[in-house]
Amino acid sequence: MTKPAILLIYTGGTIGMMADKISNALKPISHHNLLQNIPEISKFNFEVDIVSLPNPIDSSEMAPKHWVEIAEIIGNKYEQYTGFVILHGSDTMAYTASALSFMFENLSKPVILTGSQLPIGFIRSDGRENLLSAIEIAAAHRKNRPIIQEVAIYFEYYLYRGNRSTKFNAEQFEAFDSPNYPVLAEAGVNIRYFDNLPPKHNPNKFVIHKHFSNEVISIKLFPGINSSYIKTILSLENLKGVIIETFGSGNAPINEMFIGLLKSAIARGVIICNVSQCLKGSVNQGQYETSIILEKIGVISGHNMTFESAITKLMYLIGQGYSNSKVKTLFQKNIRGELG
Ligand code: ASP
Repeated sequence: MTKPAILLIYTGGTIGMMADKISNALKPISHHNLLQNIPEISKFNFEVDIVSLPNPIDSSEMAPKHWVEIAEIIGNKYEQYTGFVILHGSDTMAYTASALSFMFENLSKPVILTGSQLPIGFIRSDGRENLLSAIEIAAAHRKNRPIIQEVAIYFEYYLYRGNRSTKFNAEQFEAFDSPNYPVLAEAGVNIRYFDNLPPKHNPNKFVIHKHFSNEVISIKLFPGINSSYIKTILSLENLKGVIIETFGSGNAPINEMFIGLLKSAIARGVIICNVSQCLKGSVNQGQYETSIILEKIGVISGHNMTFESAITKLMYLIGQGYSNSKVKTLFQKNIRGELG
């Protein structure tokens, strides 16, 4: 059996933070200080190495350039390591996990993101268990292949598919959920993987796509939203894609003004996508009168994608320079396990 070798990629986040002496606000420290707090890492009977982004950040500052930095580290070390663990702030972890899932074509190794709600230096930190279990998951093999061959998030005893996850709790240790997809594994005394099938062999070459468009925006609807503000957004120069966060199963106001604005944006080539504000369930354009018109004018459905997945997918697809019709087709199709 291949001996596991795991690369930790430190990007910042609470797990590696310390309180500033003057303001008392938490800010990232270096990965050397972080490791000093988890001596247990040296007890794994396989290699665990660590690299850091040049400037560790609070994940609220995460941007596509960091996704590219992380992806390049993985790309350069892909053959050398059997699995990767990314230490990341929880605030935007679901966005990074979604973005990486789209960037990585034919991924056949585990890429596990984890972090914590309390810094590793705090006595009650959740970071120790999260990190050690994430390493164990990244190293887990069955029939000489990694059990997990995708981008996933490990947090507080559960492993979630990355592009199905969302942060829903800023207070409790259980911060994540994947409302439209079952958990991949649960850590108790043993780590239980829910797919008992032998891991698949993907013979195709691992490819990394590095381009994202930032010519996208989202509009969260609410009763009483000002149409003239929507008009201003939809008339932005260079705007290529919009996620409309709708009500329930994809419903929206159907007054002439609102529908007219969407229609003229679509006519100008702007791709308008419908994603529900509800965490669980799916957009179903046509179920109600308040959504059938959206379907008719060419708004495309985000089905049951999380917002994080939908926006990063749109940024990714437009970033590839595909035609509008290809972006629309792929957006509605399951390309990395993100919908359905
Ligand atoms: N603000 C922190 C971050 O996302 C929160 C965390 O790590 O949990 O970097």
